[in-house]
Amino acid sequence: MPPRHSPPEALLTTLSATRGRSDRLTHTEHLPARPARYAPWPDWIRPEVVASAQAMGVRQPWAHQAEAMNLAKSGQSVVIATGTASGKSLGYLGPVLSDLLVGTEARNGRGATALYLAPTKALAADQRRRAAELAPPRVRAALYDGDTPPEEREWVRQYASYVLTNPDMLHRGILPAHARWSSFLKTLRYVVVDECHGYRGVFGSHVAQVLRRLRRICARYGSSPVFLLASATTADPAVTAQRLTGLPAEAVTEDGSPRGPMVFGLWEPPLTENVGEHGAPVRRTATAEAAHLLTDLVERETRTVVFVRSRRAAELVALQTQDQLPRPLADRVAAYRGGYLADERRALERSLHSGRLLGLASTSALELGVDISGLDAVLMAGYPGTRASLWQQAGRAGREAQGALAVLIARDDPLDTYLVHHPEALFATPVEATVLDPDNPHVLAPHLCAAAAELPLTDPDLELFGPSAAPLLPVLERRGLLRRRGDAWYWTRRERAADAVDLRGSGGSPVQIVEAPTGRLLGTVDASAAHTTVHTGAVHLHQGRSYLVRDFDLDSSVALVELADPPYTTSARDITSISVLSTDTTVDWGEGRLSFGSVEVVNQVVGYLRKRISTGEIMGESKLDLPPRTLRTRAVWWSVTEDQLLDADIPPDQLPGAAHAAEHASIGLLPLFATCDRWDIGGVSVPLHPDTGLPTVFVYDGHPGGAGFAERGFQRAVRWLTATREAIAACECERGCPSCVQSPKCGNGNDPLDKAAAVRLLDVLLAGAPAAAEETGRDREAAQDGPDGRHGRDGQAGPDERDGRDGRVAPTHVPDPTEAAQAAAEAADGAEAAARAVEREAGRTTDRPTDGSGPGAS
Ligand SMILES: [Zn+2]
Ligand SMILES: [Zn+2]
Repeated sequence: MPPRHSPPEALLTTLSATRGRSDRLTHTEHLPARPARYAPWPDWIRPEVVASAQAMGVRQPWAHQAEAMNLAKSGQSVVIATGTASGKSLGYLGPVLSDLLVGTEARNGRGATALYLAPTKALAADQRRRAAELAPPRVRAALYDGDTPPEEREWVRQYASYVLTNPDMLHRGILPAHARWSSFLKTLRYVVVDECHGYRGVFGSHVAQVLRRLRRICARYGSSPVFLLASATTADPAVTAQRLTGLPAEAVTEDGSPRGPMVFGLWEPPLTENVGEHGAPVRRTATAEAAHLLTDLVERETRTVVFVRSRRAAELVALQTQDQLPRPLADRVAAYRGGYLADERRALERSLHSGRLLGLASTSALELGVDISGLDAVLMAGYPGTRASLWQQAGRAGREAQGALAVLIARDDPLDTYLVHHPEALFATPVEATVLDPDNPHVLAPHLCAAAAELPLTDPDLELFGPSAAPLLPVLERRGLLRRRGDAWYWTRRERAADAVDLRGSGGSPVQIVEAPTGRLLGTVDASAAHTTVHTGAVHLHQGRSYLVRDFDLDSSVALVELADPPYTTSARDITSISVLSTDTTVDWGEGRLSFGSVEVVNQVVGYLRKRISTGEIMGESKLDLPPRTLRTRAVWWSVTEDQLLDADIPPDQLPGAAHAAEHASIGLLPLFATCDRWDIGGVSVPLHPDTGLPTVFVYDGHPGGAGFAERGFQRAVRWLTATREAIAACECERGCPSCVQSPKCGNGNDPLDKAAAVRLLDVLLAGAPAAAEETGRDREAAQDGPDGRHGRDGQAGPDERDGRDGRVAPTHVPDPTEAAQAAAEAADGAEAAARAVEREAGRTTDRPTDGSGPGAS
């Protein structure tokens, strides 16, 4: 046994050398220490700011901080996209606080103001403290959020020069009341958008429109703020920043902060004796493997945190590890899963720092609220979804001089499997981008209404809101929401337009899960996921307990459940059809073809299977009587010709399995290129599609109007589908397994799937594709077509607790068939549906529409 606190390298070798684990370590990456690169303080940074920074131990800024400061000062919007703990906040606070200090010399003490936006209230509060540490008290920094007492709000509006808030509050509280904020807005010099990689998918698209509304209001008051964005390291941060703000941005990406050496291992659990669906081999779960490794590390007195994806997994890893350890050591292992009180968190921090606690299994909740750093090792049971989270978690390990160990343990799915065999995807240039689509008419429509309510919309304003804006206005007028008078558009309703949209809503009212005997509300499920997860007869997991759904009432959006312990899980069966509404772009790939455009997906959950938990054996199938649902969204699709199928030696009976397998794996791999998870996207594969006349595979955004994920897939299709092909081909299973082509939540029960034919199909498609390098620059900036999460999920719910089913993201827009037909006949690209959604929402906020033509009439 190596000595206590052995170097990480030796530790990893020991872990993989013992207990027959020799072939599980698939890669070892040595991340050398990186020395700090400093730059002088820009001479215009106020001495007060420099002095407080120096008092806090920052003698000189790192090079990237100084670069960002200078860009900001020159009036250039800038996005700082560097690693965790690289001091991004000093990069924007330097110029912001300096200008605010100058502003305090104005006659009213507020010659310049700045607005700070964080995705969460907690982060804004944290940043207020940081600003207060750096700035003298005459820079008045204040929080403005839902918790700000009314009596303080007026003070903030009148006197604060640095206001910290969140996009929701800007949307609902500040912009609609802009007149009361006029003195603040008039002098608005900077807008800080922190953690901007969090603004992705539909949520990101909403925030982008809120920022456009802010820019329009500022322009009316004569200000033109510079946007300072902070992001995790991603691909194309400048493109994302521009989509988010609508302004060109300069990216600062050369990280000048120092880093200790790290040994990073990639680890694949072994195949087990167990078999899954259709006899597929199953790997040991990442959590079980993590418990084994944690046991060994704790035995060596190595302070270790294991990050898992769900609360239940945190408990499991802790319990299993305790079971495997002798008594005194077992007490030094615990689980942490969010929801703890501040005192409990502090106690936890202390025991980790002191070494009393050696092993902790935690959800990512630990990323917020608990300061643990300087650990010896970090284990990640499953890829946390984005590189940003990966580095955030890995970064918990390491003390100044000593090296640290991080190990990523793959889960049994295509993305994790791909990553542990393709280290370059993690350690080379990032390929994953934060995507959003501000031009989604479903997103844009309510913001146009909100903007018109703030100040009448004029034609010159439309440019700001993008190409989808002009065609939407007449539709909104027809719906009685806007009215044109002279050359401006006015909001006509008495309701507040801003109330018609919830930035974080996923569309549709969520379904409430109610415990039948007690009437207690257990939680909610997105409307989009309800049909597949809380249908009558479904097994619903909630905080580790299992419930049976007794009745799912569509009309009242309530699922009645009762505590039960059935020996099975359920999985819904559905049928999905897809049709092409319009094609924006098509690229020939030799004989094959790749397209991007608008589609309509009709999905109906028709029944469910009961599967025995212990063996995976199918115990029976039940039918369900649920109505079909229609989703109009954006999709990427590819097709091949008959001749290509001949070349690939794929006879007609193998085609459905080949296309289906390729579809599953491609859905699994798309999150590598766009920050979505497999629950944000869906897919359909069709041996002969009526709209293309060819075998076609579709991958679509699971949100009305799209979310930008499919579009990113289109832009990076060569890389994406090449990675998909690699993931399938490299899997050691014989005929398909969860690590390659099986999807845990396939609506067709993973049947048919043909792994070998899928590889041949992708080969023949990719043979005609351009070189991957040619893909860059084919972003929408060039295409200029009408261009858009539900990340209400907090990263705590892992797949084992999560109820959505990938590959079949259920639609959120649920019109009745006649309404859908009418919408299809009208309006391009969902404008009509988008307008109707605003109408519905606006109508919901008060009892009566003002003009009698409200929801009741439509
Ligand atoms: Zn496999
Ligand atoms: Zn499937």
